[in-house]
This record gives sequence, C-alpha cells and structure tokens, in this order.
Amino acid sequence: MPTFPTHITGTHLLRLGGRTRRWHGALPPLGAAASVAFAGAGWRLDRMARAVSPEAPWLAPRAAVWDGETLAGWARRNVSSARARALLATVVRAVWSVEPGDVSLLHVLACIRAAGGLQRLTGTRGGAQQDRFVGGSHRIAELLAERLPEPPLLGRPVRRIAQDDDHVTVHADGVVVEAHRVIVALPPMLASRIDYQPAMPAGRAQLLARTPQGTTLKCLAVYDTPFWRRAGLSGHVVSDEGPDSATFDNSPPEGSPGVLLGFVVGAHATRLLMRTPEERRRAVLPAFGSWFGDAATTPRTFLVGSWSEDEWTRGCYAGYFVPGAWTSFGQWLRTPHGRIHWAGTETANRWIGFMGGAVTAGERAADEVHRALASDAAPVGTAR
Ligand SMILES: Cc1cc2nc3c(=O)[nH]c(=O)nc-3n(C[C@H](O)[C@H](O)[C@H](O)COP(=O)(O)OP(=O)(O)OC[C@H]3O[C@@H](n4cnc5c(N)ncnc54)[C@H](O)[C@@H]3O)c2cc1C
Repeated sequence: MPTFPTHITGTHLLRLGGRTRRWHGALPPLGAAASVAFAGAGWRLDRMARAVSPEAPWLAPRAAVWDGETLAGWARRNVSSARARALLATVVRAVWSVEPGDVSLLHVLACIRAAGGLQRLTGTRGGAQQDRFVGGSHRIAELLAERLPEPPLLGRPVRRIAQDDDHVTVHADGVVVEAHRVIVALPPMLASRIDYQPAMPAGRAQLLARTPQGTTLKCLAVYDTPFWRRAGLSGHVVSDEGPDSATFDNSPPEGSPGVLLGFVVGAHATRLLMRTPEERRRAVLPAFGSWFGDAATTPRTFLVGSWSEDEWTRGCYAGYFVPGAWTSFGQWLRTPHGRIHWAGTETANRWIGFMGGAVTAGERAADEVHRALASDAAPVGTAR
C-alpha cells in the first residue's frame, strides 16, 4: 500500500477558552503556567503507562486505583491549570472519541503504552497521523480480498454461532458455514449482538457490556483548491469549542481538490446525532469559515460519516473500556470460548484502537487457531 505524508506544513490554529491562537511545532501555545501543566500531565501519563502491560492491564501494580477512576477525575486532581485540562479533554476526545469522564484511566494508559507514548497517539510527524494511504484506507480491504481464493461474502451478517465438541456452525443471512474453529473479529459491542450457543461465559458477557463504541461524525468539505495553504495555514485546528475537535487538511497527494476533514467527537458528536443533515452542515461549516475564511463555508461537496448510525459499526474509532472493566473482566478479552477465538483492534497489544492493532490482533488469533487445529481432528470447512 503506497502512503503519503499528511499535509501539516504551515501555521496551525488552537481554539481554546473562546480565543483562537496560531502555533507551529508539536505543543499548542497555552501560556507559561498552562503549558507547564499540560506538558507535566503528558509526562505523568507516559510514566504511569510504562507500568501497564497492554497484554494484561489488570496486572499493573496500581491497576485497581487507575481502573477505579476516569481520566476526568485524574485530571481534576492532577492538572492544576483549567486551560491545560481543557486541552487534555480535547486530546482525549480526538484520540478516543469519548468524554474524559467516560473512560477508565487504566484504559487510557494501556492505549498510551500500546502506542509507545502519548505523543505518538496525538502527533502527526512521528505520530499516528503521520501518513495516509493513497486512494484511502478501504483499499487495504479491497486488496486483501483480491488475494483470497474465494471472494468474501458481503452483506451477510452473522446472527448465530453454535458449537459442539467437534465443530462450529456459523449462521449468517442466507448462508451456513461449518468449520473447526472460528475467529470473531468484531468490536466488542457488535460481537455481543451475535447469539452464541452455548452462551458466552458470564465474564465475557459482562466485559462486552462494558466496552461501548466511541461517538464520531467525520465531516469532509471539498473545495476546488486547498486555498488555506496560500494564507500560510496548515489546515490543522484543535478546538475545545466544537463542533469538530480536530481538523486536518485531507487533500489527496496531488493537492487538488482541497479537502478539509473535521472530526466531531465525544459530547459534540452526541449533540449532532440528534440533528438533520442540513443542521449538521450549518453547525460545522461556520467553524471552518471562522478559521479559514468565508470560502470555507461554501464547499462544492460536504459529506458526513456518522459512524454511530452505521448498524455494522455503531461508533468509532473503537470500543473503549469504562471504569472497572479491565480489572474485573479484562482476562476474558482474548480467552477463546470453546472453538471461537477473538480478534479485532480492541484485543491488540500494540496500537489498540488503530488499524495496525487490528492486523496484529488478527495475526495473534490466526496463530492461536493454527495451534488449536494442530490438536483438533481433520478440518470440516464446508459452506452450504
Ligand atoms: C472515522 C474513522 C476514522 C479512523 N481513523 C483511523 C486512523 O486514522 N488510523 C487508524 O489506524 N485507525 C483509524 N480508525 C480505526 C480503524 O478503522 C479501526 O481500528 C479498525 O477498522 C479496526 O479493525 P477491526 O478489524 O478490528 O474491526 P472493523 O474494521 O470494525 O471490522 C469489523 C467488520 O465486521 C463487520 N461486521 C459487523 N458485525 C458483523 C456481523 N454480525 N457479521 C459479519 N460481519 C460483521 C463490519 O461491517 C466490519 O466490516 C478510524 C475509524 C473510523 C470509523
């Protein structure tokens, strides 16, 4: 898959506490005291994360304490500056698409550790936003599908998975598949909607009830050119005000058309979920206009992907753990249920919640199945 760097050249904008500031580099300008508080919070989170193994966060020495509170509770006690707390909340929305009061501190730490540090989660150069796929990331699925001996069955959701001592039967719309082993690679919330026979163990069922999806609307405004570049702006905005918390220049590698991408996340997204498409447009484009000028309010196309409304996603970027989930039920995350194995980015040890995490989780589950098959009887493997 060819990649190209995210466009990040120029001046970025920070909208915080009702003021817009211009900035360059990695750290937004907050004023001396707030900058020290924000950098200190990042440093402390990184240091705490080093004590958390993404493979088993519940074994961290302070797991019970960290899983007993939310990121918001921790920030209230440990980040002295209100402006630094506001920026930290914006970072949490942008990275996990949740409010800081929704998510377990231990989960945040596990994700930080799995990414190799907070800066790697939030950053563009040297961070998660560094590169984009030419043609879009859906090309990964298309290219993988082309390499399969048979095309994948699309539009046939799995409704029921039954198993006995020697095989598994998967019931999807219009097709029944028998196999020795099955890998379920779904976000936990969607995995919980399948009917398992025999039923899942209580611990796994409880875990799935404690790992909801984040809330995100992804807004794309398309223009003839990326006109903000001429004004020296990078197209990158971080805002605590909403509706979008993070904005990027999402133009293709050739630089035309110009595309602005706004992530509306957390509580800002929850509010827009209740709105019509026209109301969403009227909420997002004035913010683009206030940052990039009037031309930004009249894109030739405006698209909104509302992931919570997609029946087969129900939110993004991934499932997150609410307080208590990791320490009470984390051990069920990857434990097979008989002949059923679990993958998906939420089960990853690296880059939890990201595409890279999904890939490594798939490799881990495939390895598990290979080893299990070696001790099983001859494969069944038929579809009817
Ligand atoms: C708007 C948005 C932006 C993102 N940005 C990034 C990014 O910049 N970088 C990054 O690394 N990650 C990003 N992510 C996250 C990334 O997409 C996920 O981490 C990744 O897709 C997880 O892969 P997965 O295989 O675990 O699950 P999924 O990609 O969710 O795959 C699950 C599949 O199962 C299907 N399905 C659901 N229920 C059933 C059923 N009952 N039967 C059969 N099939 C079913 C779904 O349709 C889906 O195709 C983003 C996600 C979103 C939504």
